[in-house]
Amino acid sequence: MKVLVIGSGGREHALVWALSKSKQVAKLWCAPGNAGIAELAECVPLQVGAFEAIADFACSKQVDLVVVGPDDPLADGIVDVLEARGLRVFGPNKAAAEIEGSKVFMKELLKKHAIPTAAYETFDSPEAALDYIHKQPLPIVIKADGLAAGKGVTIAYTYEEAEEALKDTMIELKFGASGNRVVVEEFMQGQEMSILAFVDGETVRPCLPAQDHKPIYEGDKGPNTGGMGTYCPVPHIPAAIVEEAVKTIIEPTAKAMVAEGRPFKGLLFAGLMITPEGKPRVVEFNARFGDPETQVVLPLLNTDLLDVFNAVVDGTLDQLELDWSDDAAVCVIAASGGYPGSYRKGDVIHGLDAAANAPETLIFHAGTARNEAGQFITNGGRVLGIVGRGDHVRAAQQAAYAAVKQVSFDDMYYRRDIADKALVQVGN
Ligand code: ATP
Repeated sequence: MKVLVIGSGGREHALVWALSKSKQVAKLWCAPGNAGIAELAECVPLQVGAFEAIADFACSKQVDLVVVGPDDPLADGIVDVLEARGLRVFGPNKAAAEIEGSKVFMKELLKKHAIPTAAYETFDSPEAALDYIHKQPLPIVIKADGLAAGKGVTIAYTYEEAEEALKDTMIELKFGASGNRVVVEEFMQGQEMSILAFVDGETVRPCLPAQDHKPIYEGDKGPNTGGMGTYCPVPHIPAAIVEEAVKTIIEPTAKAMVAEGRPFKGLLFAGLMITPEGKPRVVEFNARFGDPETQVVLPLLNTDLLDVFNAVVDGTLDQLELDWSDDAAVCVIAASGGYPGSYRKGDVIHGLDAAANAPETLIFHAGTARNEAGQFITNGGRVLGIVGRGDHVRAAQQAAYAAVKQVSFDDMYYRRDIADKALVQVGN
């Protein structure tokens, strides 16, 4: 089969890596890809928003399957455009991707179908939102309705902070039209956990659970980023809770989308809060693979990823069981100094070959390019996802950090506590 992957980050490198292991894949392209992806796939200089040009390319090469990585093109309807041209696509159409693209839609869907999530109200006027907030306990959570690259959420600990967030979002429109409406919701205590699930309409095949580290600094301090590291599975959250999350949240959500006439086909990412009583509740849904969750989940999938994608596209997921490794994986993100604020690009990256040589290590490129001398250079805030694998989380963590120590570039920054949470809580 000939496969085209859309995107250019670490998530797409992991997708391309997993597909490149399939004996059924005869040719792999990635648009636009990055310098690491170019080692495994032919990179095509097409931007993810150029839907017609991507469709032209895929038709001219008789691509058998297109896999869409990022959220923006999904929310803007890339799948509808490609399918209208007769292409087979892994990813939800525009109507189904609204589960990520509109928090108001997502919250209303959950309320209507009695799926557990935080209590909330939606507002299109900042005055009404503020009135409501004054009657609620603190902290309280304010979310821009639309996509805001992970930055449209404020946890307000004072009424002043809440007022500030409403001003930024709804009056100054810091996130553009995404802030025309807001969701104001109850603050949930607990442990966060992500479950990525393949969904072909009604059938759900969950992946092993993963845990992200969003804030830039150790101890979960500082501003949120796209994600500074992940680990999989999550040993301190009992399997029964994971199962409950699938039964009470992910499967009912898939059914609800079918009932709404928007069957979801693709990868549904459930961001969950596990309450202190052990009850899973929805924080968010994403309509695509998580980044960097994908970098730890896919290395543990023994099943051929192409078979899974085909089953989702063909609606035959009920006939496929996923086979998972018993290992664990830990991903540490190496970022450019200054990220998530401003940072430099173009620094030479050293030590990649040595780091990748260890059999238990994988390096996924997120923001890299090559200079004229052919050396890898930094080309983004998150530069590399360095993944270690082992037979439990501690071994995987050691493998990841051993590899991190071999890699260097000027001002390289990484968190030194990725996966510590799992180790502290199970004590191994
Ligand atoms: P992204 O797409 O980057 O993951 P987002 O913009 O969709 O983020 P959310 O995932 O809804 O935003 O929220 C971002 C983070 O804020 C969550 O990962 C969680 O840590 C925190 N958060 C969101 N809602 C709540 C809540 N109701 N209670 C407690 N924490 C919350």
